[in-house]
Amino acid sequence: KLDINQLIHNVSTNFKLKVENKNGKIIESLDAKNNTVYVDEVHFTNVIYNLFDNAFKYRKGTPILQVKTWNQDNGVMISVKDNGMGISKENLTRIFEKFYRVPTGNVHNVKGFGLGLAYVKKIVDDHGGTITAESEVNVGTKFKIFLPIKSTKEWKKNTNCF
Ligand code: ATP
Ligand code: MG
Repeated sequence: KLDINQLIHNVSTNFKLKVENKNGKIIESLDAKNNTVYVDEVHFTNVIYNLFDNAFKYRKGTPILQVKTWNQDNGVMISVKDNGMGISKENLTRIFEKFYRVPTGNVHNVKGFGLGLAYVKKIVDDHGGTITAESEVNVGTKFKIFLPIKSTKEWKKNTNCF
């Protein structure tokens, strides 16, 4: 069991310099009071890191990243929002697929394998959670994760089939 707010704060502390180097910032509103969940520390650190990494890579101008947590329906909600290039409706349905990259990602010469979000979704699913994305082109993107407070301790049995 660990404090999800603390985990997120640690990731954002590590990521902050990158964003500040582009004159941007990370805004934290970690308000979930019921914040102790069964999550794998290493994998969940990677999940949050991946969302920050995308928010930064697909930025448009000064990167403003907003990360929030709050309690909802016997669980913790985590949102990561950016003011980046956004994702069109037709591409949004495919971003969680392995190896899928939005064509403009390449046009802007941003490198990646298209695996980050497939990994993120796999880890969230294995913890009994859900992830959704909302986006508007040229405005930004928001990812929302729901994690049940009683997130399974069973996640381990599935993790090797990514
Ligand atoms: P990898 O994460 O494996 O290095 P990647 O970033 O291309 O590569 P994903 O993280 O799976 O792969 O993201 C898939 C695609 O979704 C990206 O190529 C990009 O086009 C789009 N995308 C993901 N996050 C964002 C975001 N925050 N803003 C705009 N586009 C995004
Ligand atoms: Mg990525």
